[in-house]
Amino acid sequence: ATDEQTLGFQTEVKQLLNLMIHSLYSNREIFLRELVSNAADACDKLRYKALNNDALYENDSELRIEIEHDSENNTVTLRDNGIGMNRDDVIENLGTIARSGTAEFLKQLSGEQQKDARLIGQFGVGFYSAFIVADEVVVRTRKAGDQQEAGVEWRSRGEGEFTISTIERPVHGTEIELHLKSDATEFADDYRLKSLIRKYSDHIDIPVRMPTTQESDEGEKTVTWETVNEAQALWVKPKSEVTDDEYKNFYKHVSHDYTDPLGWSHNKVEGKLEYTSLLYVPGRAPFDLYQRDGARGLKLYVQRVFIMDDAEQFLPLYLRFIKGVVDSNDLSLNVSREILQQDPKVESIKSALTKRSLDMLKKLSKDPEAYQTFWTQFGSVLKEGPGEDYANREKIAGLLRFASTHSDSAQQDQSLEDYIGRMKEGQQKIYYLVADGYNAASHSPHLEIFRKKGVEVLLLSDRVDEWLMSHLTEYDGRQFADIAKGDLDLGDVEDEEEKQAQEESAKAKEGLVGRLQGALEERVQSVRVTHRLTDSPACVVLPENEMGYQMRRMMEAAGQ
Ligand code: ADP
Ligand code: MG
Repeated sequence: ATDEQTLGFQTEVKQLLNLMIHSLYSNREIFLRELVSNAADACDKLRYKALNNDALYENDSELRIEIEHDSENNTVTLRDNGIGMNRDDVIENLGTIARSGTAEFLKQLSGEQQKDARLIGQFGVGFYSAFIVADEVVVRTRKAGDQQEAGVEWRSRGEGEFTISTIERPVHGTEIELHLKSDATEFADDYRLKSLIRKYSDHIDIPVRMPTTQESDEGEKTVTWETVNEAQALWVKPKSEVTDDEYKNFYKHVSHDYTDPLGWSHNKVEGKLEYTSLLYVPGRAPFDLYQRDGARGLKLYVQRVFIMDDAEQFLPLYLRFIKGVVDSNDLSLNVSREILQQDPKVESIKSALTKRSLDMLKKLSKDPEAYQTFWTQFGSVLKEGPGEDYANREKIAGLLRFASTHSDSAQQDQSLEDYIGRMKEGQQKIYYLVADGYNAASHSPHLEIFRKKGVEVLLLSDRVDEWLMSHLTEYDGRQFADIAKGDLDLGDVEDEEEKQAQEESAKAKEGLVGRLQGALEERVQSVRVTHRLTDSPACVVLPENEMGYQMRRMMEAAGQ
């Protein structure tokens, strides 16, 4: 080896490694899924690049992954003939530079093992998971198309530094040699490896092969390679041939999340546009859901060929939590993000996938427990919907869940349909109140008359709620009314007698109203007698078209 160089892992990488090794102890087998997934990605990338440059295959276009083990020396070796890496790639990808978001991610860790283990799984442990089972990892790789002398060897014990050197490597692609820890030797086993490959990598459309050595009577050894996984893209198969477990495992592959998804929708579309989509509703929000540069979007394939991760153009922002794959027959294999942004075909697929996603959520809502899990994780993202997607606002509104005076709990679990079903005779509007928090809402004096009359009020207190309500004017033909704004109109819930009594009492108090108006002249538009209140003496009301309290505060915070 020449050009040997020893480099330190970046601090964040060190922290991550340390955490991972300790908190993923009970789920160590995932290292294989991660490494096979990287190998498959590398094959996908080569296939894509070779579309324009066949020479990159170096006469070896049969993409494959090979896994070997040596139970005497306790090693497991994974090999792929994918794209490979050069020296700079290796330094960048395997050590010095933490993935974007790592620091942010580390901040969220609590120190509680179980919780952190879940978070780490969600973050995508990737290559470093090798150190969960190995006390030394050796990577040998060469980028497809580079000279044989430009191979790279990377070694590390996962303790803070790694060594990198230049080697000669006749074949392109990457080989990863794991020297198993003394308590992880169980993985140097044919049966164990095969069952893990079937468990985690069946759907990967690159063959994963393992060798069998046969010895003839004369002592001659022959090696035959057996493909262990099914090696077919899952979404290509007819729905009826895919089991729930296969769908779930595939989800884990595309999402880096190792908990089960809440639901999925698999569709093949033929006709003017031809594409297949497989969409999932995750059961847990990723740590970067609210980060501007957080990963979102679908995995894009064109005619089975992997094109890119995180293609954001196929779903609106308010559905950014949806994971999955779209495989189009109509896009060019040379498609780029820029082209995606302008292609009208992409726009049509996006609108169809949006509908599919909303339908999938509708279906999920039939299972209240699962839907509640979804809502707790993603409800406030979905609430961005009516503002972003006017055409689908009614559909989205049907998926919203609210806290309400009916259930008297902070849990957002009441739908608009539930509300409408409970409307009083003569009630025309859907009443709601926006406040800073659930408690402020549920103790608001504005609710007094509604409680007295037994009229339900939706209690909104999320940051996006006022934004939401400014785009949601009606549902199922019923208008929304903010009970803290404008004149209170309870419609026919009040009878004539009550209305008359109110008018009389207003007349009787004209003198008092006049004096208050004089005293508060500078501060309020008008003072009125109200029947909103039953116990409190007075409350502040906003004019009908005025910006609400939340919006005002947001504007103030923004310096306006
Ligand atoms: P991720 O797969 O999410 O990018 P990983 O930690 O699994 O994160 O891998 C980091 C990077 O290392 C990959 O993005 C890829 O660039 C590179 N890499 C890992 N394994 C391979 C491989 N077998 N062949 C080529 N590149 C690889
Ligand atoms: Mg990976």
